[in-house]
Amino acid sequence: GKGIRIEGLRKRYGSGDTAVDALKEVNMVVAPGEVVGLIGPSGSGKSTLLKCLGAVIEPSAGTMILGDETIYDGQWKVKDIRALRRDKIGFVFQAPYLIPFLDVTDNVALPPMLGGVANKQARSSALALLEALDVQHRAKAMPSQLSGGEQQRVAIARGLVNRPPVILADEPTAPLDSERALAVIKILNDMAKKFETAIIVVTHDEKIIPTFKRIYHIRDGVTYEEKGEGRAFE
Ligand code: ADP
Ligand code: ADP
Repeated sequence: GKGIRIEGLRKRYGSGDTAVDALKEVNMVVAPGEVVGLIGPSGSGKSTLLKCLGAVIEPSAGTMILGDETIYDGQWKVKDIRALRRDKIGFVFQAPYLIPFLDVTDNVALPPMLGGVANKQARSSALALLEALDVQHRAKAMPSQLSGGEQQRVAIARGLVNRPPVILADEPTAPLDSERALAVIKILNDMAKKFETAIIVVTHDEKIIPTFKRIYHIRDGVTYEEKGEGRAFE
């Protein structure tokens, strides 16, 4: 996989006098196995960028390459946007959004099941990931029985289960204390390396910002790259 490459991405909402240029010049490169931070104030365009990358909204111009595939180049380059969302992009959100009436294994197995993988095989992929994330002992628990840290690990397992080349994590550590927040970032780093995943972490969590080797700042729809401290995992 090629990771993520975004060049000259723009997004304009609306038209005429009321148009808003939410993304003006976004350039980002994330290698397979790499975790980068994306930081910016409220209204700077972070959500718009994640929605473009997640193929939830259509950009206005530019290029987006996810994994081996150019998905947007002035227009969508993929026929099946839903398959793209399912197979190429994993999402990890602040609130884990686990499904309350499914146990942990089935929460993680759901994405492959929805993609047509046999239940038994989907559950065995789910269990392998729960093991990698050290929550296999909670495989039969219901989400309401999990601690915050466990819920977040299960949500990460679900984001990874289809082995997407790209993971978009939106404030994944916000509700966690320092130790657990760093544990989540360590897991994302380990998983990125293990599965050659490119991961973008949108955050303003001061606890984890020093862990990134590279950070993209976004301000008024324009990205700037900065070399981070990258100190936690050297
Ligand atoms: P952030 O996630 O960094 O807070 P957003 O991507 O939500 O930033 O917003 C970027 C800019 O685009 C803001 O000026 C916001 O008001 C505007 N915006 C966001 N969504 C819409 C929309 N659906 N229609 C018009 N303007 C929007
Ligand atoms: P973690 O480091 O995973 O956040 P905690 O110290 O919060 O762990 O929790 C320790 C144990 O207590 C875990 O096995 C967890 O499942 C259980 N636990 C925590 N909160 C709850 C809860 N609200 N209901 C049931 N079990 C819980």
